[in-house]
Amino acid sequence: MDLSNLNEKDMALGCKYCIKGEKLVLYITGLCEESCYYCPLSEKRKKKDVIFANEKQINSIEEAVEEARLCGSKGVGITGGNPLLRIERTVEYLKALKEEFGSDFHAHLYTTPKFVSEKNLKLLKDAGLDEIRLHSSKLFNDFENFDKLDFLEKLKLCKNYIKDVGVEIPGIPNFEKEILDLAFEIDKIGVKFLNINELEYSETNYQSLIDRGFSEKDDTTSRISGSFETAKYIIDNFKGKLIIHFCPSSLKDSVQMKNRLINRARNVAKPYEEITEEGLLLKGTINFKDLKDVSEVLEVLKENDVEFELLNDRLLLNPEILEDLIDHLKENNFDFKFSAYISEYYPTSDKLEVERIPLVTKKPNLKLKKK
Ligand code: SF4
Repeated sequence: MDLSNLNEKDMALGCKYCIKGEKLVLYITGLCEESCYYCPLSEKRKKKDVIFANEKQINSIEEAVEEARLCGSKGVGITGGNPLLRIERTVEYLKALKEEFGSDFHAHLYTTPKFVSEKNLKLLKDAGLDEIRLHSSKLFNDFENFDKLDFLEKLKLCKNYIKDVGVEIPGIPNFEKEILDLAFEIDKIGVKFLNINELEYSETNYQSLIDRGFSEKDDTTSRISGSFETAKYIIDNFKGKLIIHFCPSSLKDSVQMKNRLINRARNVAKPYEEITEEGLLLKGTINFKDLKDVSEVLEVLKENDVEFELLNDRLLLNPEILEDLIDHLKENNFDFKFSAYISEYYPTSDKLEVERIPLVTKKPNLKLKKK
């Protein structure tokens, strides 16, 4: 396959649910037996036995189901850490999600070969796992001791139990030959796909990547130089049946995340809120200094069939209607005191506010997305 005319977006042939942001990312534990120098996990997750559903830390299956529902998820990617270090938990969550959303709710799981066993695979199969992706951490961490035969045997074992079996690795620059050899070997035993993720730096792996001679690709992203070219080399030089996917960091950061936010925003937006093109929510807020003034404003809103919510001395409503309301109040010389602003915030469970625009002083430039 000649990729010379393709851009990075064209090479992103990855999972359609991931691209649309329709997969719940279930981070089942931060525990992991490996210590990969490129591991990007954050301090609050790495080596900690914590569970996250997308960005939300959770403690129960019910919360995972709720997050999947709010994001309109069509499947789940179970990750970590190593999920097989918490096999019982993994199976419980997987079974519950399959029971709740049906057998078409596609489930894949990332793991390393170490705990791949007949017993664990049988448990995963019975819980409904559709796809397993193995990561050969020793390939890049400790190549001298990378036991290729064992890795291939574990992949073969996976094929006896799980419908789709693949390998997922970072595109480490200067490992073209090793990755290409691995691609030919796994193709011979009928592995379905090889996913190559663009190498990125994070707060936790930055220093160890720099110490090993890697460098940043540009000032605006967290991409590592040479990773894209490594993936391109593999795709250009591989001949066989194996499907090779390249997942650029821009796809993960912007497209998948944005789509997931938009999906979640659609499900959690109040009737008066607007969804931006980036999947954030906009709402207008007016605070009254004196509660007795509220009734006059409510009358105006009710007369005009306007959706709103009243929380003590705060009235929440559509941001554009709030601007009209303020104009109306000014024109009619209402003499009570109030403050008003528009909030832009994430539709995630923490409702992180990213911007607050005081209304009387500044007109916001609203880039609204129709619901
Ligand atoms: S196997 Fe994955 S989670 Fe474990 S240390 Fe390596 S990159 Fe991190």
